[in-house]
Amino acid sequence: MKGILAFILCIALVLYIVPINANAATDPGSKGKIVVLATGGTIAGVGDAGKTAGYKPGSLTAEELLAAVPQLADVAEIEAIQICNVNSDDITAETWLTIVNTINEKAADPEVKGFVITHGTDTLEETAYFLNLTVKTDKPVVLTGSMRPSTSISADGPMNLYEAVCVAASEEAVGQGVLVVFSDRIFAARTVTKTSTYHVTAISSGETGAIGIVRDGEVLIYESPAKKHTTETEFDVSGLKDLPKVSILYFSVDASPKLVKYAAKNSDGLVIAGAGAGEFSKKWIKAIKKLKIPVVISSRIDDGVITKDNLLCKNTVAADNLSPQKATILLRLALLNSADQETLEKMFLEY
Ligand code: ASP
Repeated sequence: MKGILAFILCIALVLYIVPINANAATDPGSKGKIVVLATGGTIAGVGDAGKTAGYKPGSLTAEELLAAVPQLADVAEIEAIQICNVNSDDITAETWLTIVNTINEKAADPEVKGFVITHGTDTLEETAYFLNLTVKTDKPVVLTGSMRPSTSISADGPMNLYEAVCVAASEEAVGQGVLVVFSDRIFAARTVTKTSTYHVTAISSGETGAIGIVRDGEVLIYESPAKKHTTETEFDVSGLKDLPKVSILYFSVDASPKLVKYAAKNSDGLVIAGAGAGEFSKKWIKAIKKLKIPVVISSRIDDGVITKDNLLCKNTVAADNLSPQKATILLRLALLNSADQETLEKMFLEY
């Protein structure tokens, strides 16, 4: 009899405890924390009141950026970290390593729901792809920026920041790889690119398109990136101080083959931005065939793909549909593990 009573008591206790814990997990009051890592760019730019050009990027601090969007308090608790405050053309591999190490460390905190990185738009796509290959978490990592400085008429920074935090705090963005949120749209890091020097929808994903949208804070995702990212990659950059050096060579009519030789002498690997489907002159073919370092062939054309069949030199690797600047990042990371041609070919198909 005592045994039966004890059993009933246990069941009652379990039934009582389970709903309490379930409530705690879904409690709308516990919003969780978003870590905002600020790096500078036009979103933190200050210039003449009302004007869109001639400003100084990387002027506002992380706190000042956040203060312009009080609505963020309704979305999440925010922790701000100033990584640097620069024009994004001054971002270096060292900056990337600081960002990735900070994210990997903070991701272990169960309070942290996700990350937002504010960044200049010039090289935003490069930082996004580097992080896509190196962060070791499923938690959302979202980059954003702006095309107009904070002092212009109708600055786009505050809305972009708000929407980026909404995405980083959403369940929908978990496990989608590194994302970029810009002018109401959500892009995957691998395909996102800057397509205009001035307009507010300058960030886009070419022929593959956005994977989702944000409307009044609601996150709607329609596609998932197909290539390996974040926790699925083989790249471990913890403890590194720098990355292998890879240069991009841009082919144009009459470009000297001496450039090929010079770039190869000063690099661990090369990416060629070829014409059309990754092509170049006979003089370049001769110079490239002699190279002993890894060479990846991409195109100076935005859309399209380079396959093995397109290659003019047998000692080169096809970049798939990666832009030259994205191919450079994959090659820099790949060279940490291997310079073997077959291994590189496999990686350029996988990532
Ligand atoms: N030059 C700026 C930067 O990349 C441009 C921008 O943020 O839109 O930092």
